[in-house]
Amino acid sequence: PVEVISNAELRVGFLGRLGRVFKEKAKSDIQLLFSGFSKTRENLAVVDELLTYWNLSDSENILDELEEVLLVSDFGPRTAMKIVDGLRKDILKGTLKSGPDIKVALKRIIVRLLTENVSSTELQLGQSRPAVIMIVGVNGGGKTTTIGKLAHRFKNENVKVLMAAGDTFRAAASEQLEVWAERTGSEIVVGEGSKPRPATVLAEAVRQGLEQDIDLVLCDTSGRLHTNYNLMEELRSCKRAVTKALPSAPNEVLLVLDGTTGLNMLPQAREFNQVIGVTGFVLTKLDGTSRGGCVVSVVDELSIPVKFVGVGEGLNDLQPFDAEAFVDALFP
Ligand code: GDP
Ligand code: MG
Repeated sequence: PVEVISNAELRVGFLGRLGRVFKEKAKSDIQLLFSGFSKTRENLAVVDELLTYWNLSDSENILDELEEVLLVSDFGPRTAMKIVDGLRKDILKGTLKSGPDIKVALKRIIVRLLTENVSSTELQLGQSRPAVIMIVGVNGGGKTTTIGKLAHRFKNENVKVLMAAGDTFRAAASEQLEVWAERTGSEIVVGEGSKPRPATVLAEAVRQGLEQDIDLVLCDTSGRLHTNYNLMEELRSCKRAVTKALPSAPNEVLLVLDGTTGLNMLPQAREFNQVIGVTGFVLTKLDGTSRGGCVVSVVDELSIPVKFVGVGEGLNDLQPFDAEAFVDALFP
C-alpha cells in the first residue's frame, strides 16, 4: 500500500526539523566570534597564572583566589562557589593533580552548568502550524535585530515567515521591523491607528498566519524594564492573546539578554521568566565588549538554556549556542 502523506503533514515534519536548522551549520571561527569577550577574558587570564603555580599544599588559597576571579568576571556568588566547590572535591579525591588538570576540570564544570538540567538548546516548534516565537527583553538589547536574523536563517530553508510588529510603543519600531521583513522576504503584520494595542497586533498576526498557511510567526515586542509592573503585565496579556488565537502558541518565548550588561541579567531573567515563562535565551552583542560570563549564573539558577548568541549587527550574525565553544572562548 502506498502511504499517502498530505501536504500539511509534510509541512509539519518540515517544522519539526526547523529546530535543528541552526545546529547543523558549521561552527564558525570561535576566536573571531568572541573577539569581544575582552572584559571577561582580561579577568579570567589570571586563572592561567594562578594555575601555573598551583601545588597541592597551597590549593585552598588558590581556590579562594579563583573564586575571587570568577566573581569579578560576573559569575555571581552562588555559581562561583559551586564551581570552586566542585574543584575542591576533585582535588581532595586526588583526581586533579596539576594546574592544567584543574583548568580542564574548571571548563568541564562550567559546560555542565550550561547544559545539565536545561531543556534542549534547539528551538522547540511543536507540531502545529504556524509555530510562534515571541521575543522579549529590555530596550535596545537586540530583539528586533534577532527577529531579522532568525527570519533570514529560516528563509534560507524555504520557511514562510510572518513578522508581527508588537512594539507599538515607538512609532519607528514598526518601520524598523518592516525593513527586516523586506530584507528577508517575510510577511509582516503592523497595527492600525495611532496607538494599537500590542496584544491585538500579535493575535491578528497569529490569525493571519493560520489563514495564510504561514510556517513561523515571529512576534516582536516593546522593550521594557523587568521592574515596570504595568509593562510586565502588558506582556502577560500579549502572551494570553497569542494563546487565545492559537492554543499551541507561543511555542517559544525567547528572552534577549544583552551580553554587555553583566550581572543585571540575573534579575531581568528571573522577572521575565516569572511573568511569562521564558523557554530560552538569546545572548546578544558577544562581539562587543561583552561580559557574557554572567550567563552561566543565569542558566544555572533558572535552568533555562541559551539557544542563540548574537555576534554582530548583520543578517548572518546569529549562531546556535554551543556551550563548549563558549567556554573555550572564555578560557582560551
Ligand atoms: P531592541 O530594542 O531590543 O529591538 O534592539 P534592536 O534590535 O533595535 O538593537 C539595538 C541595537 O543593538 C542596534 O543598533 C543593533 O544593530 C544592535 N545589535 C543587536 N544585536 C547585536 C549584536 O549581536 N551585536 C552587535 N554588535 N550589535 C547588535
Ligand atoms: Mg525593537
